[in-house]
Order: sequence, then C-alpha cells, then structure tokens
Amino acid sequence: MDISLTFMGAARGVTGSRYLVEANGLTVLVDCGLYQEREFLSRNWEPFRCRPSDLHAVLLTHAHLDHCGLLPKLVNEGFRGRVICTPATADIAKIILLDSAKIQEEDAAYKKKRHIREGRKGPYPEIPLYTVADAEASIKLFDPVEYNTPVNVGNGIEATFHDAGHVLGSSMIKVVVSQGGEKRSIVFSGDIGRWDRPMLQDPDVFRRTDYVVMESTYGDRAHKGAGVIDDELAEIVNSAFRAGGNIIVPSFALQRTQEVLYYLNKLTMEKRIPVMDVYIDSPMAIRITEVYKSYSGQFDAEMRELLRSGQSPFDFPGLKMVQTVEESKALNEIKGTVMIIAGSGMCTGGRIKHHLVNNISRPECTVVFVGYQAEGTLGRQILDGARSVRIHGQQRPVRAKIEHIHGFSAHADRDELLKWLSKLTAEPKLVFITHGEARAAESFRDLLKEKTGYNATVPEYGEEFHLE
Ligand SMILES: [Zn+2]
Repeated sequence: MDISLTFMGAARGVTGSRYLVEANGLTVLVDCGLYQEREFLSRNWEPFRCRPSDLHAVLLTHAHLDHCGLLPKLVNEGFRGRVICTPATADIAKIILLDSAKIQEEDAAYKKKRHIREGRKGPYPEIPLYTVADAEASIKLFDPVEYNTPVNVGNGIEATFHDAGHVLGSSMIKVVVSQGGEKRSIVFSGDIGRWDRPMLQDPDVFRRTDYVVMESTYGDRAHKGAGVIDDELAEIVNSAFRAGGNIIVPSFALQRTQEVLYYLNKLTMEKRIPVMDVYIDSPMAIRITEVYKSYSGQFDAEMRELLRSGQSPFDFPGLKMVQTVEESKALNEIKGTVMIIAGSGMCTGGRIKHHLVNNISRPECTVVFVGYQAEGTLGRQILDGARSVRIHGQQRPVRAKIEHIHGFSAHADRDELLKWLSKLTAEPKLVFITHGEARAAESFRDLLKEKTGYNATVPEYGEEFHLE
C-alpha cells in the first residue's frame, strides 16, 4: 500500500486541525482549521504544504472554526474542489465563515489604523487573513452528504460520515483507500462528543479500522460533576430572582447556547424556575438556532419527543431573539430579573461586553459562565476573581455574583475516549493521538498502551507517515 498521512495541525495542540491524505494520485485534506492558540497564530499565514489548486477535495468533520476556519484562505489560494460535509455542517459553517471573514477584515483595518497612529509594524501583515468574498467563494464549494452514506471521493477513495455527537452536524469520517485489490481504512474522529447528553445522538462507534486519528482534548482528565447542570442552573436563577438582578450568560453561538435553552425550557416546564424573559442577543446564535430548528430529525429520541409535543427548547414562553443593535441597547434599561445570553463566549468581543458594562458592578446581578475560559481572556479574569476589570477602555469594579457551571463540555473525557475505542473488535495497526495539548495527548497515549496494548503515537507538527 502507498498511502501518506501528514499532520498539518492539531498536532500537540488543540486548534488548526488539518490532515493531508495522499493516495492513488489524489490529495485530500481532512479539515481545514484555523489556529486559535496564541503561540501558533503565525501558522495561519504560512503557505499550505500542498498547492491548493492540486488538492482534490476537503472533508470537513464539523463547523467549529478550528476545523473549518481556514477554508476561505485555501480557496483564495486556488482550491476549487469539493468541500464534503453533512448538510447541517454546511449550513452552520456558512454562518460561521462569513462571520469570521468579517472579523478578519475589521481586525486588519483596526490594526492598520493603530499601527499608523503608533508608527510601528506588527508581527503579521495588516491585511485580512481572508475576506468576506473568499468566504462566499468557499461556501459555493460545499457538497453536503448524509450520514452513513459512502461517498466516492475519486480514484478508489471512499468516505463515510458518522455522527460524532459533538455539535449539530458533527462527524467522524471513515476513509477507505482501495489499491490493487487491497483496502485500508482510516477513521478520523473529529471532535468526539459524549454519551447521554441532551439533544444530540451518542457518538458513533467503529468495530474495525486499520488506522485511527483521534482527538485527546481531555485525554488526561475525567469530567466531574456532570449531570447536575439543571440543579446548578435552577439554584442560580432562583437566587437571582431573590436578589432582583439580571443574569448575564457569555455563551458560544454553536451548541452551548442551544443547550442552555434546553435546560431553561426543562426547568420552566418542571416549574423549578419562574417564567422569565430570556434574550438571545447574538445574531450568530440566532441564525444557528434557526439551523437547529430545521434539523429536528437528527436529535436524540427524547429531544424529538419534546419537539413533537410542541415543547421546543427553541420556542418557550419568555424566549426573545434580539436582532438589531437598537433592540440590544434597549436591554440596558431593563431592571429586574431577565437572562441575557450573548457572545463572545470568552467575553473577548461582541455584545456581551456591553451587558457586562451595565451589570457587572451591580451586586444584585449574576454573571454565569457555561464554557471554558482561556488564559488571557476577559472571561478568565472575571472567573479568576478579579476585583475590577477593564472593559471598553474603563476599569469597572466587579460586584456581581460570579458563577460557573462546569458540566457543559462537548468533548469526551479520558474515560469516554477509551470507551469509544473499546468498541473495536480488532487491534488497529496504529492510533494517532491528535487535537490535545502535548501533555494530554501523551498521557492518553500511555493510558491506551497500558489498557489495550495498542500501538499509539503523538505526531509532531508537519510529520508524515507512510501507511502500510
Ligand atoms: Zn469542535
């Protein structure tokens, strides 16, 4: 067999997923993700390892930026092939890529202005990484395929998309290469979701494959305290009602916002919290929620039943979608207990900053974190207990109550990663551990070897393997 696999991203890091498969005269890229970790940002500007015009197709696991966010640059540099993904991933990626392109353009313009004013040059060119026009061109290449339906990529390469249970539309992709009467299969895990979570199906499992490329975000940890999200949220909402202040929720637009709505709907139905006005103040979250509404068939049985009985988490009493900036500003006048859910999820930009300005210094208010807050972000500062924080150029004392609900992760933990692999009935030739910081990936490699005896490796950035 003559198959080459090169790791162009998410190798000893969690962002920039890009795996290059070369076989049978074709070059296929699995994911085309943006680097988001500060130390690796310069890699977004490096030329692609292969000529984008020589690339035959891109297979996309899901719509998170660290998996699809560099697609517009690939298209700008000459890629014209198919972008194969599930229909829901296509619909969500369109929204996310256009938003990302707009931010790239705005950031470049802002940096240019600032550098001129300060008479200096930054480390990267003051041009956008890609433009809205590039994003629009890449969207035209989307070629949606359903789950569990083998698709012919070309020259004896076939790909099948399986539900990853991570976000709506997310997939694991099994690539099968046929050469001279022989076949080899590689399962690309994408981001692996979790079992028994609300809304989404459990992650698909595989019985046989020759090679596995799998994520290890939480390869060295077990999630604690899951299953009590509704109790924690009920307590937070009821105590905010007693205090008479607003509840501000910084949230990611994809999956996390919809999950928060799921729990609010459940608690309201069970009369564990009062009926409350809930404002989604994020145009992107609203658009993505619309996509969720249109794929009701892909949810788990419990969620489908909820929708059938007319108790949609995306349409409960009190839920309001805030479309315009004027409507968003009008929320400033509200005193009393309402919930405002806005982006960005780590408070680094977006409308959440305005709501923090208006509420963070009021002791009767509550700020609730429902997701991971990276080092160096405003969200992390608040979560770490800063007494005052700088927002929009001014120091603001933190007097609001700060809460954190831990149970929301969309990634399998160490035990769930092992569970996912344990469904294999034969030992794979080699397991590549990717999409985890070096410590997490190496720790999972060692655990896997200890528990199963499987041959496993943590590839380096740019490392190429010849698969037999
Ligand atoms: Zn993801």
